[in-house]
Amino acid sequence: MTKNPWAAAQTTVQCQHCNNVFPAQRINCIDTLLWPEGRQLLDEDAFFHPVCPQCQTRSEISYPSRYIDREFGIAAVLVPDIESQQPDELLPYMNRYLGRLALDGMEHRAVGNFYAMAEQMRIHQHGLNDRAVQLLKPIIIGSLQAKGFEVWNGFFMDLLHPEGAEQMEDTIYMSTQEDAEDAYTGDVYQFYIYLTNGDIIPRGINNTAYQLCMNILRDKKLADDDGQFHLYDLSWAINIHNSLYPN
Ligand SMILES: [Zn+2]
Repeated sequence: MTKNPWAAAQTTVQCQHCNNVFPAQRINCIDTLLWPEGRQLLDEDAFFHPVCPQCQTRSEISYPSRYIDREFGIAAVLVPDIESQQPDELLPYMNRYLGRLALDGMEHRAVGNFYAMAEQMRIHQHGLNDRAVQLLKPIIIGSLQAKGFEVWNGFFMDLLHPEGAEQMEDTIYMSTQEDAEDAYTGDVYQFYIYLTNGDIIPRGINNTAYQLCMNILRDKKLADDDGQFHLYDLSWAINIHNSLYPN
């Protein structure tokens, strides 16, 4: 493994359980051109969940960081808790001052945590439209809330290619009149849904749903990326869905 040129930085974490203070690796930048293994690290959420050496409790850490991946076409900037910092004001600022980071032919995203940063890596690895992936979340989360689950958030994990036409467990199948027969044969978009009690439940949704979300984006002229920094998170997706059914 090549050494990440930025991995030398350290941070300290205070354990929420026993108050022990211990050091943890702090990664300010993952540029896969210089450090291809950074993707693998991003894929394992252990690096932002350091374990207390004294009591083995898992903590969660967040700090400003960047992920630049020319091969996958994504540059993401992590601004911790950006969701609660008025992104409408922050994003124009980012586009003005982070413009020199902007690289041709790449999508630029602001994210609020490492879950979302890793999700951007996976989405672009599969060549998917990240706005369409975000739009799938309120559909999945809504169906869980209807069953009484209290959901914090959800993140894309994988694109599955089922072999037969068999229905998969814990998967939402949407269908349209034109492709009702294809509902069970296409790709399945796999998410981890994080409940407010800390539980993680895997949920899938089919390709027909993804195509319906692509149609929403085309109608709203949001299917193509403009090269600017954007925050496309769960709140954004909920607002888009709500705008389809104005009161
Ligand atoms: Zn501890």
